[in-house]
Amino acid sequence: MTTPFWSVKFQKSVSPKGVDMQNKVQATPRLYKEVASKLLQEIQSGNYAVGARLPAERDLAVKYDVSRPVIREAIIALEVQGLVDVRVGSGVYVHSATGQKMIPAGDVSAIELTEARLLVESEVAALAASQITDDELAELEALVRKIEQENKTAGGKEEADADFHLAIAKATKNSALVESVERLWELRNTSREAALLHEKARHANIKPVVDEHTAILHALQERDPAAARAAMRAHLLQVLDSLLFATEQRAVDEARRSMQAKRERYSQLTA
Ligand SMILES: [Zn+2]
Repeated sequence: MTTPFWSVKFQKSVSPKGVDMQNKVQATPRLYKEVASKLLQEIQSGNYAVGARLPAERDLAVKYDVSRPVIREAIIALEVQGLVDVRVGSGVYVHSATGQKMIPAGDVSAIELTEARLLVESEVAALAASQITDDELAELEALVRKIEQENKTAGGKEEADADFHLAIAKATKNSALVESVERLWELRNTSREAALLHEKARHANIKPVVDEHTAILHALQERDPAAARAAMRAHLLQVLDSLLFATEQRAVDEARRSMQAKRERYSQLTA
């Protein structure tokens, strides 16, 4: 495959020893999709009939030789499709054997999504720099302060970040660009993988960086398209870096859980 345009920067900042991080990212298993497909086959073949309860998470983990979080993700994927009902404290029940398309088209990876944001939003910022009004600048300034406040609240919401990026899109006065940026943020919220990775990044205490947003604001205040483009690009490269960090963390966690599942299975065999 071709080398993504940001990988040079990424390898420099995260992998000084020149390890091929790109391959690691590509190798991150999207096992849950495979498991979800297998479960769907079982449901459609009648092995798990409508109304029946699926085996427990730990048993499914052993059966498919994956970690329990992978099973959980697969169940969520089936739930989104209306194939199963998750009843808290009771279990997972087959609701229907006819789902829609297995994996929604919107299920892009967090890395793909941020790469697209990097391309689109850098140019959006450049255009906004030449169009933005004083009122819109005041709004952005308030949003930077809101990002700062949200960062201080433990487990708080992260609405100001989205609002900041959408406000810049609106400042272009180009409704196609506004729709594009809105859609990218929507994908971030609807893609399971993106949501999980962002959650992981949040747990690792990676928060929207105020300085990066301030730099974008300053460039827009100067009405300097080149500086705005560069500041937005720098910001989203940092987001990419933090996601790649979270991806690695996740791969390590997965490997650990998979080992644990194998151990459990072995101890069951030898018990
Ligand atoms: Zn941001």
